[in-house]
Amino acid sequence: MSALLEVTGISVSFDGFKAINNLSFEIGPAELRAVIGPNGAGKTTFMDIVTGKTRPDEGRVLWGEKSINLLKLNEAQIAREGVGRKFQRPTVFEDQTVTENLMMALKARRNPFSVLFWRPSGEDHARVAAVAKQVGLGDQLDRKSGELSHGQKQWLEIGMLLAQEPRLLLVDEPAAGMTLAEREQTTALLVELSKTRAVVVVEHDMEFVRRLDCRVTVLHEGSVLAEGSLDHVTSDPKVIEVYLGR
Ligand code: ADP
Repeated sequence: MSALLEVTGISVSFDGFKAINNLSFEIGPAELRAVIGPNGAGKTTFMDIVTGKTRPDEGRVLWGEKSINLLKLNEAQIAREGVGRKFQRPTVFEDQTVTENLMMALKARRNPFSVLFWRPSGEDHARVAAVAKQVGLGDQLDRKSGELSHGQKQWLEIGMLLAQEPRLLLVDEPAAGMTLAEREQTTALLVELSKTRAVVVVEHDMEFVRRLDCRVTVLHEGSVLAEGSLDHVTSDPKVIEVYLGR
């Protein structure tokens, strides 16, 4: 199967410091991938490049069946292509209900002119209900988001991204601050989502990565240091040195 996202030889420097150094990365259209690496490894900068927030100095970022060059698109266009990003802290609208938050996300997907005249249709309501159910909030539709638990807010935000029908979801430390039960539910959600889209999880917590049971990419000094199963990469002497050797 050909890759959904194909990143080749990207580099980016900040004031002469190479934050990303000849990094290549590929993910398939229905794949779950964990990206790990010590602080400063380049994980955030990598996601910034894929989402168009940061431009690499060199390299290629190709997308989809038609190999669209994402480097020619701006952040909004890349999002419309189907790249969704979830930051670590949930950013839901606390005084709005779960339905209202999801409806807003659905609306954001439309073009700016149609939004002016947009009233949610029965189909939109059905879509919102389906997304809420998918992220485990099917019985919370009328709750104000501010009343949700931390974990539920994270799921709502994932739901808001899903309402925009991403083909690739970039998720930053989704389980941070969650209870054990919420972590288990988050694992199941990410695994399920990755059956129909690509999901990249940036994570520090190895126990959570183990639960995801997926291919792991280890970044270090802006490059891929190792890739494979968690057992494979954690037994790699280079990885052991990076994590333990200093
Ligand atoms: P990670 O997410 O793996 O912790 P980052 O991508 O945030 O790593 O950072 C990689 C390196 O690039 C770090 O050394 C960081 O200090 C540096 N860096 C990131 N963004 C900037 C920036 N805007 N200006 C200067 N240096 C930056």
